[in-house]
Amino acid sequence: MARTKYIFISGGVMSSVGKGITAASIAKLLQSKGYRVCPIKCESYLNIDSGTIRPTEHGEVFVCDDGIETDQDIGTYERFLDQPLSRDNFVTMGQIYQAIIERERSFGYEGEDVEAVHLCDEIIGRFKTAARKSRADVVVVELGGTVGEYWNIFYYEAYRIMKLRNKDSVFHIHVGYLPTPPTVGEMKSKPTQLSVRLLNSLGIQPDFLVARAERPLDRKRKERLALFCNMDGDDIISNPDLDSVYDVAIKFDEQEFGERILKKLHLKPKSKDLNDWRKLAETVKTVVNEVPIAVVGKYFATGDYVLSDVYVSVIESLKHAGWHYGVKPKLVWVDSEKIEADGAAKYLEGMAGVVVPGGFGGRGIEGIIQAITFAREHKIPYFGLCYGMQLATIEIARNLADLKGANSTEIDAKTKHPVIHIMPDQEKKLLSRDYGATMRLGAWDCHVTKGTKAHEAYGKTDISERHRHRYEFNNAYRARLEKVGLTISGASPDGKLVEIVELKDHPWFVGVQFHPEFQSRPLRPHPLFREFIGACLK
Ligand code: GLN
Repeated sequence: MARTKYIFISGGVMSSVGKGITAASIAKLLQSKGYRVCPIKCESYLNIDSGTIRPTEHGEVFVCDDGIETDQDIGTYERFLDQPLSRDNFVTMGQIYQAIIERERSFGYEGEDVEAVHLCDEIIGRFKTAARKSRADVVVVELGGTVGEYWNIFYYEAYRIMKLRNKDSVFHIHVGYLPTPPTVGEMKSKPTQLSVRLLNSLGIQPDFLVARAERPLDRKRKERLALFCNMDGDDIISNPDLDSVYDVAIKFDEQEFGERILKKLHLKPKSKDLNDWRKLAETVKTVVNEVPIAVVGKYFATGDYVLSDVYVSVIESLKHAGWHYGVKPKLVWVDSEKIEADGAAKYLEGMAGVVVPGGFGGRGIEGIIQAITFAREHKIPYFGLCYGMQLATIEIARNLADLKGANSTEIDAKTKHPVIHIMPDQEKKLLSRDYGATMRLGAWDCHVTKGTKAHEAYGKTDISERHRHRYEFNNAYRARLEKVGLTISGASPDGKLVEIVELKDHPWFVGVQFHPEFQSRPLRPHPLFREFIGACLK
């Protein structure tokens, strides 16, 4: 087998310029040329995973099959490559320090003094493990943050050491930003020149420079960048703002970026198949008809964070399903606390569907339940994801089964009717504040009942979906709720854990304990999202 190649992608000038999409598009290009790609995201923070970080701080917590709670970029990679990833693809500085300290405490260094370079060895070891386990031809490593930050220095140093040891297999792509200040009206290349200098000062000369900017890179600036960054003009790739993220790989392909990378890696394109991607990009650009979908939640009211980051997988899944029908969902964000103040009708009248995504805690919950009542009574398609399933169960218990005050013990520990309660093995974890990676996480099998909406969607009885929860449907209320029209259409293989609930006398009312949004792909919408949008269009 040929030696695995490594491509590192760093960012310069500032964050949020699309390094993640750039890296995912590069991985996509290489995959489309017939190579097995293994993407890795490196985070600078000291958390072990993303599970304990507020989504409003850092965006959605994405969950892989193996239960690792990751940054949203891992979701982007899964969607772009249509490839399930795992903890091998997600490295944080916290994991690196933890491994080193644990080894030191168990005398793993046999009396040696433990130095910072051991961090680099640990990082390199992880890249190699990921490569070996995925049998990758090319490992694409996205370095978090931007060059020059002291907290990510060990990743850059790991690259430098790998390059030194393996000149022909290790390469570096730098993504620099070229701003166009409104007062000047012209694109400036100096900040990117300086970020390449910063790289140089770390002993790194990039092999390619990706120029992120509002507009395409012109010849003059390309020449300046080439001269001052000590590069060949052909190795500078333009990456202007585009209509959709799917266009980035196509824009790169037009500049033969994939071929150029492969040439440096001493590889030849084995196939050239970006056709499906092209079709997808075309669909994304040409769909005009909109279907209004209300997303009701409680993280909408405060702060200056971006909702599109907090709910990225849900948003993408709704889009994937929409494109399947040639429509695009027009998402209307409804803050449940506003519903509590003004009633649901004001916000939900005229909506084709209602989605309640995952969440935690008690704030704004009554507003969400009012929204569910509205969707149920007005026969508006309803899709509840995790918390959205639990809250739908509470709504049905209170309003159809007449269980006054029914609740989840997460919201009201003393409720008379705990229709949702904590899973048996979760209680002691909460009591001992053992929060990290202790929820019911990752892929679990589920059995789907024939003759239900869920079965209609999946077309099969055995499925596997990703989870992230501590509470569950309380089986003591099963019969009582089934009597008023609730169908339990999916459960764990032993039948004990309720995974999917739906309502009989309703066009489409489905709640799932899992997170289907983590498995939807642009060209392969998730069956439940697909059926939900289908119902919204009727
Ligand atoms: N808070 C609920 C639980 O822990 C739902 C979690 C979620 O929506 N991801 O069970």
